[in-house]
Amino acid sequence: MIQINEVSKVYDNHKKAIDNLTLSIDKGKFGLVGPNGAGKTTLMRMLATLIKPTSGQITIFDRRIDEKDEIRQMLGYLPQHVGFHENLTVEQELDFFATMKHIVAKKDRQRQLDVVLEYVNLNEVRKERIKTLSGGMKRRLGIAITMLNNPRLLIIDEPTAGLDPEERIRFRNLLIRLGEDQIVLLSTHIIEDISKVCNLLAIIDKGQLAFHGTTIELLSQAKEATWAIPSNEVSSLLSNDFVASRIVEDEVKSIVLSDSKPTPNAQLITPHMEDAYLWVLHKGGKACGEEGKKNL
Ligand code: ADP
Repeated sequence: MIQINEVSKVYDNHKKAIDNLTLSIDKGKFGLVGPNGAGKTTLMRMLATLIKPTSGQITIFDRRIDEKDEIRQMLGYLPQHVGFHENLTVEQELDFFATMKHIVAKKDRQRQLDVVLEYVNLNEVRKERIKTLSGGMKRRLGIAITMLNNPRLLIIDEPTAGLDPEERIRFRNLLIRLGEDQIVLLSTHIIEDISKVCNLLAIIDKGQLAFHGTTIELLSQAKEATWAIPSNEVSSLLSNDFVASRIVEDEVKSIVLSDSKPTPNAQLITPHMEDAYLWVLHKGGKACGEEGKKNL
């Protein structure tokens, strides 16, 4: 379990990237969502022991975050941009990282290589040079590397960034299959990715917790606040009404997020994850489901 207790991170330029955050994360897949600049990467880098909190405490499986070596042995971290050795083959690269992770015996490295390559479905290209792989294959290779030594905590930053739609779906399916005995922490600004893979999530905004709970609980936040507006009423919307648009019953409709009926013929509709996410961010404050309440 990860316990984050009243943690703040202030960078040298006085930017407060994480602001008094308290959050606990249990086994399973957990999503960390928020707009660009919300503080997701900062939080992940603290969990990965790459930077230190300015104040507050973090423990991971009962180890304090300053016990770096112990934490790193339990951890696989896949940052958004991974520098591979492009001229090595997939196999050689994995062998290199396995050695870095102190898997000393060649036989053990070989066995682990076979397991992770099978898992991420890259067996066919194991003899290919990395520079010939597609973006999606490189992301999967990144996962294979983080999975070496079977870490108890996997941290993956922006899992589907830069992937085309087909690769995205394939990558998501891979994430769904990741172990139930581990903590898998995914950070993204794409709420759809999280809702397909994770049951529990936290939304952070300006370094603070804006929501913590299940995807269902997030949806329920916007249940009484998501309206479809008939086209002849769109012009009467107030400029500060919060609007998105999408297809509802074969028509492109304007969707307004508001806690009161925005136009006379506005109709309440079932929110999508994106509506609920935008609503939570828009209305500010802290919302939570049952899981989140435990942190209060
Ligand atoms: P996210 O991953 O959600 O996009 P980040 O954690 O990268 O957010 O950034 C949070 C805030 O901290 C942003 O305002 C960003 O500009 C700032 N920030 C991030 N890294 C640094 C750094 N090394 N020095 C100063 N400010 C930083």
